Amino acid sequence: MKYNIALIKGDGIGPEIIDGACEVLEFVGKKYGHSFNFVPYLAGGAAIDATGEPLPEETIKGCLASDSIMLGAVGGPKWDALPGNIRPEKALLGLRSALGVYSNIRPARLFKSLASASPLDKKITSKGFDIVIVRELTGGIYFGVNGRREGKDGLEAYDTECYSVKEIERIGRVAFKQAMGRRKKVTSIDKANVLESSRLWREVMHRLASEYPEVEYEDMLVDNAAMQLIKNPSQFDVIVTSNMFGDILSDEASQLTGSIGMLASSSLGASKRGLYEPIHGSAPDIAGQDKANPIATILSAAMMLRDSLGRKREAKAIEKAVEKTLRAGYRTPDIAGESKTVKVIGTKEMTQRIIENI
Ligand code: NAD
Repeated sequence: MKYNIALIKGDGIGPEIIDGACEVLEFVGKKYGHSFNFVPYLAGGAAIDATGEPLPEETIKGCLASDSIMLGAVGGPKWDALPGNIRPEKALLGLRSALGVYSNIRPARLFKSLASASPLDKKITSKGFDIVIVRELTGGIYFGVNGRREGKDGLEAYDTECYSVKEIERIGRVAFKQAMGRRKKVTSIDKANVLESSRLWREVMHRLASEYPEVEYEDMLVDNAAMQLIKNPSQFDVIVTSNMFGDILSDEASQLTGSIGMLASSSLGASKRGLYEPIHGSAPDIAGQDKANPIATILSAAMMLRDSLGRKREAKAIEKAVEKTLRAGYRTPDIAGESKTVKVIGTKEMTQRIIENI
C-alpha cells in the first residue's frame, strides 16, 4: 500500500525526532511492502518565521488531503513574546479543530527495563502497568461559556462545563472499542457526586456499557482516580474521561512511566485520519544536540500504523523493537538514570538500534 503522510516537524527537537520516526517507517515499509510519501508542511514557530502566521492555510489543506499526520512539537523562547493569537501553540488548537479530532488517546505503559526511572515504589512498579487514557478533546469546560462580570462582591470570573449526550456517547464508544482490543476493562472517571454534567456523563456511559457486555465497566470519582493511579496503576486498562480531568490525569500517568520522552499520543475524529505526536514539547534546551529521545515519536508512528492505516503487524514490530532495544541497555540521556551498566546514545543511534531490531 502507498500512504500519504503529512509531516509537521515544527520547532526545537521536532525535526530530529520526526526524521527518526520517518526512517523507522521507511524501513517498515521496505520490510512489509508499503511505501510512504512524506509531505512536509509548516506550523508553529517555523511557520511564523516563513509566513507570519502559525498555521498557514496550505498546512490545513495538506493535512486534510493526507492519510494521516505526524507532528513533532512547536514553540520555543524565540516566539514567546508574540501575542496569543500568533503564538506557535495556536497552531495546535487550530489543527485539532480543523481536523475535527475529538478524542485524545495516550497510552501510559511502564517498560520493565525502565521501572527504576518511575517515581513509584518498587512494590508498585514490579506489577507493571499498561493504561490507555481516552480524553474528550473538543468539549467541556475548556470550550464552554466563560467570562467576567460584576458579582455581589465585585469582579468575578466563570467557566462552564457542558457536555451533550452526543459528545459523551462518541468518546465513550472510542473507549469501549479500545478496551475490546485490549484487556476489556473501562473505568469512566467523573465527579458525579457534585456535577450535573458528570451525572449525564455517567448515565450515557452506563447505557454504552450495556451494549458491550464483554467489557468490565466501573465508575470512579476523579479525586479517587488521582489517588488510585499512584497507589495501584495496574488496576486500570482503559480510562475514559472529560477534557479537563483527562488533561490532568494523563500528565500524572505519563510521569509514572519515568520519562516524558517515551509517551506517544493520537488524536482522532470521525474519520480514520489522525494526528500523531509525542506528548512532550519542543525541548529547546537540547535541540540540535543529538540528545532527544525519539521513542515517543517512533511509538506515535506505530499508533498511526495501527489506528489510522490498519497495519497491526507493522505496529507491533516497532513496539517490540523498542522494547528489545531498551532491554539491550541502550538509553538516551533522559532515561539513562544512575546505572553504570547502560549504554548512553544519541537520537540518531537510538533510531538505528530500533531499526536493527525490527
Ligand atoms: P518540553 O516537553 O519541551 O520539555 C520539558 C523537559 O523535558 C525539558 O528538560 C526537555 O529537555 C525534556 N524533554 C522533552 N522531550 C524530550 C525528549 N524527547 N527527549 C529528551 N528530553 C526531553 O516542555 P517545555 O520546556 O515546557 O516547553 C518547551 C516548548 O515546547 C514551549 O514553547 C512549549 O510551549 C512547547 N510545547 C509544545 C507542545 C506541542 O507541540 N505539543 C507541548 C508542550 C509544550
